[in-house]
Amino acid sequence: MAKLKLATVWLEGCSGCHMSLLDLDEWLFDLSEQVDWAFTPFADIKEFPEGVDIALVEGSVANEENLAMIRKVRDRTKTLISFGDCAVTGNINALRNPAGSPAPSFKRSYLEAAGWNAHVPESKELPKLLDRVLPVHAVVPVDIYIPGCPPSPERIRSVLIPLLRGETPEMVGRDMLKFG
Ligand code: SF4
Repeated sequence: MAKLKLATVWLEGCSGCHMSLLDLDEWLFDLSEQVDWAFTPFADIKEFPEGVDIALVEGSVANEENLAMIRKVRDRTKTLISFGDCAVTGNINALRNPAGSPAPSFKRSYLEAAGWNAHVPESKELPKLLDRVLPVHAVVPVDIYIPGCPPSPERIRSVLIPLLRGETPEMVGRDMLKFG
């Protein structure tokens, strides 16, 4: 039987959700016997492939690169999972939203709080920030939400085990739904 294709994606997040996935330790060997890692920041895979079965998406949608990426992930994935509070709500990344644009954050960070060489850095290489940071479901449909900052390894495993059996995980109770 063909293995499921599993992907993990890193949008605007601190990578803490991916660290929690790594905290599954030895169970990752069991997981790797049941899936092909189709795309993940743990491996140097350049292009998100077609035909992914499950994608865990960490982080919120904060810039044009995130926007293009999440649309591609949605197009190419059967079960898309909002992975962690940044993906589910925007979380700390969305604190800049009341300002209406990134400009006040740039001003505060690079001008007012600068100890020296105060200037707003410019780069044609970096993707343009969106005016508002968005949770994943505000851009594309999401199939499963795993809250947590980060979600515990046990919670991640409790979602993946039924998915590997072709079943829908039960997202009920404090152990599965608590934010933060
Ligand atoms: Fe980091 Fe928390 Fe966001 Fe995960 S949910 S990326 S741990 S800030």
